[in-house]
Amino acid sequence: MENKYDRVFNFAAGPGNLPLPVLEEAARDLINYQGSGMSVMEMSHRGSVFKKIAEEAEATFRRVMGVPDNYKVLFLQGGASTQFSAVPLNLMKTGKADYVVSGLFSGKAFKEARRFGDAACIASSEDTNFDRIPAFTKKDLRPGTDYLHVCYNNTVFGTHFAAVPDAGDVTLVADMSSCIMSEPVDVSKFGLIYAGAQKNIGPAGLTVVVVREDLLGASRPETPVMLDYKTQADAGSMYNTPPCWAIYVAGLVFRWVEETGGLAAMKARNEKKAALLYQTLEQAPLFTLNAQKDSRSLMNVTFHTADPDLDKLFVAEAAKAGLVSLAGHRKAGGMRASIYNAMPYEGVVKLCDFIQNFSEIYAKGCTK
Ligand SMILES: *Cc1c(COP(=O)(O)O)cnc(C)c1O
Repeated sequence: MENKYDRVFNFAAGPGNLPLPVLEEAARDLINYQGSGMSVMEMSHRGSVFKKIAEEAEATFRRVMGVPDNYKVLFLQGGASTQFSAVPLNLMKTGKADYVVSGLFSGKAFKEARRFGDAACIASSEDTNFDRIPAFTKKDLRPGTDYLHVCYNNTVFGTHFAAVPDAGDVTLVADMSSCIMSEPVDVSKFGLIYAGAQKNIGPAGLTVVVVREDLLGASRPETPVMLDYKTQADAGSMYNTPPCWAIYVAGLVFRWVEETGGLAAMKARNEKKAALLYQTLEQAPLFTLNAQKDSRSLMNVTFHTADPDLDKLFVAEAAKAGLVSLAGHRKAGGMRASIYNAMPYEGVVKLCDFIQNFSEIYAKGCTK
């Protein structure tokens, strides 16, 4: 297990931990990939060896996610943040788009869209420091809007959409950077899904975009060629040199997800881990959870004590116990445990034991 390599349990929000079997396989093939005499990092992206790697990665992703045939899967660069620009450039056909602002990244996406046209925030939870997914219905959408943009899992604040929002006939766009492949999703309900890879998919440097084909080809004339989905789709994501290594490792992760039972099994594992952690935090007198119960994320669990100095001590002491990267985002404070697909159950058990012990020592006077 992890101890063989003296590894820690890594609760970082991103780049996050990767499944150990994936790292082992990548390490085995690092210097000479399957008899090619080269590392995947060294070979031509147009050669037959890499072509097979990229095709298999896409095929496995499609199977695991259940991507319908009328969607393109693009392997791009620039992180999810680049999609904050690419989405309006490609999809704001009439110049009007609606945004739900439920956290840091959806706020950034909204702000970026306003540079390109009439973007409106139709619902926000900023007034309660993003402790929930704000309520809205399709009636809140503006007539004639080109798309509705949501962030499906809010990495910084630890909230998650409990169900796919009903956007009626309006194209639904979702940033799924921190929850992609953590549970089954009905891709056909979305016009476009994007995700930076470094949370649940693989190494940083790869961004996956899933886009319905009828949305291609209507980008604004000023769209930079690299940000035009049609260019990228027509070139099979190889308009320029793709992030070869990241695609290779992502392909291994997709296979790991498939061999571990697919997204239904991932969801069951993730629910088991999250339930244990939330229950432990609810019962430990010292800690308060940040997110409202009906908006809680399975991936990012945010919590705090009443004292920022005690929060810092928690993070430092946990690191000494081999439980690392538990500090909350600077915009949220407190603690955040990111328990992505690759976090083993035993890591969460160890964290829960630590939480209970810490609470017993420092909870003098705290009640619930
Ligand atoms: C991490 C994250 C981003 C930013 O991703 P980059 O790849 O660093 O640009 C955007 N949205 C969400 C939901 C994230 O978790």
